[in-house]
This record gives sequence, C-alpha cells and structure tokens, in this order.
Amino acid sequence: MAASMAVRFLVRRIQSPIYTARREHRMKKKWASSLPSLSGPQLALQYCDSNYSVQFGEDWAALRLALLSEQKYGAMVNLFSRPEAVTADLSALHSEDFLMMEEESPGTDLTPADSAPHRDLTPADSAPHRDTVTALHAAALSCYTFPRGDIQRFPSPRADLSGLLGYYLMDAASLLPVLALNVQPDHRVLDLCAAPGGKSLALLMQNCRFLAANDVSVSRTNRLRRVLQSYLPHHLRTEERVRVTSWDGTEWEEHGSYDRVLVDVPCTTDRHSLIETDNNIFIRSRSKERQTLPALQTALLLAGLHAVTPGGDVVYSTCSLSQLQNEFVVERALEVAASEYGIHASVQELRPFREIFRKTFNFHEKSRIGELVLPHLTANFGPIYFCLLRRER
Ligand code: SAM
Repeated sequence: MAASMAVRFLVRRIQSPIYTARREHRMKKKWASSLPSLSGPQLALQYCDSNYSVQFGEDWAALRLALLSEQKYGAMVNLFSRPEAVTADLSALHSEDFLMMEEESPGTDLTPADSAPHRDLTPADSAPHRDTVTALHAAALSCYTFPRGDIQRFPSPRADLSGLLGYYLMDAASLLPVLALNVQPDHRVLDLCAAPGGKSLALLMQNCRFLAANDVSVSRTNRLRRVLQSYLPHHLRTEERVRVTSWDGTEWEEHGSYDRVLVDVPCTTDRHSLIETDNNIFIRSRSKERQTLPALQTALLLAGLHAVTPGGDVVYSTCSLSQLQNEFVVERALEVAASEYGIHASVQELRPFREIFRKTFNFHEKSRIGELVLPHLTANFGPIYFCLLRRER
C-alpha cells in the first residue's frame, strides 16, 4: 500500500507542469552541450572521408592532403588586351604557357606523373592523339602556370590603356572542358551554367560566332556581366556576339540550336567546401539541396542534349570527385535522353588529353567515362571532371 502511494506520488510529480518544464530545460541543456555543431568544412571533410576513401582507396590520403593545401592557379591571357605585353610579363615571372609547353614530347624530369607506371593509352603517333593536338593548336588559347612543385602565386591582373584586364586567374584545369568542346569560329555556343564566367571568356577567345551565356542566379549573372566588361572590348559586347541571360537551364527552350554546349553544373565544389565557410553546401540547412544535386545535374545535362544540334557536341563538367555527380550523371542522362526523348548521344574519346597534358595535370588513371584531374601536392589543380558527348545525327 505504502509502495503504491509512493509510485502515484512520483507519477503526479513527473506530470506536474513545473516538473515537466524543469525536465525539458535540463534536456535542452544536455542536447546543446552534447551535439557538436560542425562547420561546413568539417561536415565536408566527414563526407569526403567516408565516400572518397571507398572510391579512391589508398590514394585518398594524398588526395585529401592536396585538397586541404594551397590550390594552384593559371593565368589565362586576355587575347583582346595586349597579349604580347602580358605574355612577356608572365614569362618574366618564370611561368609557362601550359598549352605551348605540352606541344613538346613528354618530359623526362622525375615528376610523379613521369615516374608513375605509364600506361600508353594513346601513343603520340596515333590518329586520335594527332587530331587532338591539331585541335588544341587551333584553339588559340594561352594559359600560364608555374611549373610542378612551384607554389608561387600570380599577382592580380592589371588593366591596359583601354581598361581591359591582361589575364583571368582560374584553376588551369578548368580550361580542359572548354578545350574538349573544340569550338570553331563559325559555331553557335551555349554555356548553360556560365557564372562567374571564366569558361565563357575562354569560349569567346576562340572567336565563336555567337555565345549564349546563361546562369539561373541573377547576382552571379551580374558578376558574369562585370567579367565580360573587364575583358571584352566594347565592339564585341553586342547582342549578335554574346547574349547573357538568367534563365533556369533545366527549362532551356531553344532545342537543336547550338553547335556546342557546355554544361558546367553546380556541384559539391569539393575544394571550396573543404576550406571555405561561406556559401558551403555541406551545412545542415542545405542537406536537401546537396542530396538533390545529381537530379539537378542530370536535368541540366538533358537540357544540354536537347539544345545541341544533331551531330553537335556537349561537354559535361564538375569540380567534384564524386562518381555520383560525374560518371553516374552522364550514364543516367544518356539513358533518359534515349528512352524518353529519342535523343541518342555517345561518349567521345578524351584519352589523348591525359597524354598531352600529363606534365601539368595529374589525371585519374581509372576513370571509366570522361576524364578526371586529381589534385596533387606538386600539381595542385582540380578536381575537374569533364566528359564529351556527341549527339547522333
Ligand atoms: N562555368 C562557370 C565558370 O566557369 O565560371 C562556373 C559554373 S558553376 C560550377 C555552376 C553554376 O550553375 C552556378 O553559377 C549556379 O548559379 C548555376 N546554376 C545552378 N542551377 C542552375 C540552373 N538550374 N540553370 C542554370 N544555371 C544554374
């Protein structure tokens, strides 16, 4: 009897509002002190460690170190400024044009790429290799980098007398998707996700007939406009030559209208996410956005395949190491394009890039579809994934 009265007393106490309030208070205090609030970079590191250690096995440790170390830049020469003076300045810094450098036969210095077991994927006398070299020579771009192991930084670019900046600083590997597009002077080109605009500039420097530069974000499109103003002479900033829009790329309506389409999608931007707190896609409030990235990327690539003319080329690119955002997106988009829209496209060979640019970049040897530039302490560019697709006629 006494025991049951004691139980009833305790139950009443627990149910009383005062007791409940105190208890809740104590619980909240406990949550707040026990649940660590991780920053974006910390969450990114957790994600990368658990996913990439599986994807890259024992190579992940070196990759991780490179990603967490200082990134290297390239200086893409503004061909609309005074290229001779600019290249003289860049050479005086002992940097070299990686596009010129790679014309030579593979080097003999003991860089990691040269000392690694070498798979001769596309011998220098093979037809695909020769075609790629010819296309690259015609590309007429110029981008300076410091040699492997040299971690100097370029000074900010200066303006010439007409106010145009001499070079654009970017991850030099992000020129590879542009080069893979092999743009010709008579081409109409679409850059579906264009801001802030480094690749758009490179496309314009290849003298394409017309460039549609689009990005869904209005603020980023404004940044793109400012970039074009700082690098393009006034007479080229016309509607006939370049059109800037802020449309949702997944709903692109101009079907079959472009010779070349670049689909440089939003992604987990691995390097940025591991270092920067600002605009970090790994923070908890952006989990949904991050998880739905592959679906958005697939929709954007499908839009690109719709926009390109039959026989034309699309390049899909990301700055992530993730297979889910790279190969798997390409495979899914090809499957849906064929089954749901009757658009057939195929992956094109880019392996000569590995051989031609091996002195500057560290390529992933085991890439199944497309090419992936891996960060490395002595060549700390990337990650950049790029894959070339040709729509059937
Ligand atoms: N190509 C750019 C360059 O070289 O400077 C970088 C592009 S960035 C990797 C991806 C861009 O996709 C972001 O600027 C983002 O605003 C844009 N984006 C995201 N969703 C989009 C959509 N639905 N349609 C078009 N652009 C989109």
